[in-house]
Amino acid sequence: MLDLSKQDVYVFSMTEILIPFALNKNGEQVSVDEVENGLGCECICISCKSRMVAKNNGSEKQSHFAHYRAGKADLKCDITFANSVFWMSESIITTSLTNIKLLTPNLLSEYDNKTEVTSAGIRELDVKTVDFFPKNNGSSWTFVVEVIANNLRRPLAITLSFDKGDGCHGAISYKGKFLSNLVINLSELHKIWRLKKAGFRESLHYELFENPNNRRWAFHERTAKVLKQLDEQRLSGISAIRQNSHSQNTMFSAKEQASLDQLYRELERER
Ligand SMILES: [Zn+2]
Repeated sequence: MLDLSKQDVYVFSMTEILIPFALNKNGEQVSVDEVENGLGCECICISCKSRMVAKNNGSEKQSHFAHYRAGKADLKCDITFANSVFWMSESIITTSLTNIKLLTPNLLSEYDNKTEVTSAGIRELDVKTVDFFPKNNGSSWTFVVEVIANNLRRPLAITLSFDKGDGCHGAISYKGKFLSNLVINLSELHKIWRLKKAGFRESLHYELFENPNNRRWAFHERTAKVLKQLDEQRLSGISAIRQNSHSQNTMFSAKEQASLDQLYRELERER
C-alpha cells in the first residue's frame, strides 16, 4: 500500500543543495529536465562555472545538477537552491518575447476590512523595463518592472521570497518613491519538483506569474489614499448625523449630543 504520509516527513533544508538550474554551453539557463543526463549535458555551474553533472535518473531524490568535482578546496561557489531559482526567474523574464501577464491579488483596507485598496486582476508587465536588484545570496530578491494599464505605466516592485513565514517585506524605496511591493512566496517549489508534478521551467513560470495562492501585497501605494477617503467619509457621515440632530432635537439626548460633538471635534483634530 502506498503510504502518502511518508512524503511529508521529508523536510527541505536550504543547506541541502539540490540545484535545479545550470548554464549550457551557449551560456543559457537550462533546467535539469531539459538536458542530457550526466556529463553529456555539457553544463557549468551558474556561480563557480565548473562542470556540472545532470542527475536525472528517476531516483527518489529530486532531479538536480551536481558539481562534477565536488569538494575541491579551491572552489569558491555560492550556488544555492534559492539563488539558482532567482537566476532562472531572471532568465524567464529577459528571454520572454512578449510582455508577461501577472496575476495580482486584491487587498482590503485595514480601516474596515472590506473596502478594496486594489482589486485582483491580470496585469501586463513590460519585460523590456525590468530593473533587477543585486542578488545577495539571501532568501529573497527584488526587481522593479513597469505595469502597463490603459496606456499608463507604473513601476511595481516584485519580491521573490523563500522565507517560511511572512518575512519582513514592506515598501520598496526606488528612485525617491515608495513602490507597491508584491511578494511571491516560492517555498512550495521544492515540493512540486520533488514530486515531479511538472517540468521545472513551466512550474516556475506558473509559480511566478499565475499561482493565486502564493502572493500578497507587502505594501500598496494606494493604501494611505484609501484610508484618507474612508476617514473623510466617516467624518462627513458623523457631521451629517450631528447637524441633523441639532435641527431635530428629538433624536438625541443632551448627553448623547455632547459626546457626538466631542467625537466630531476629536476626529477633526486628528485630520
Ligand atoms: Zn558551483
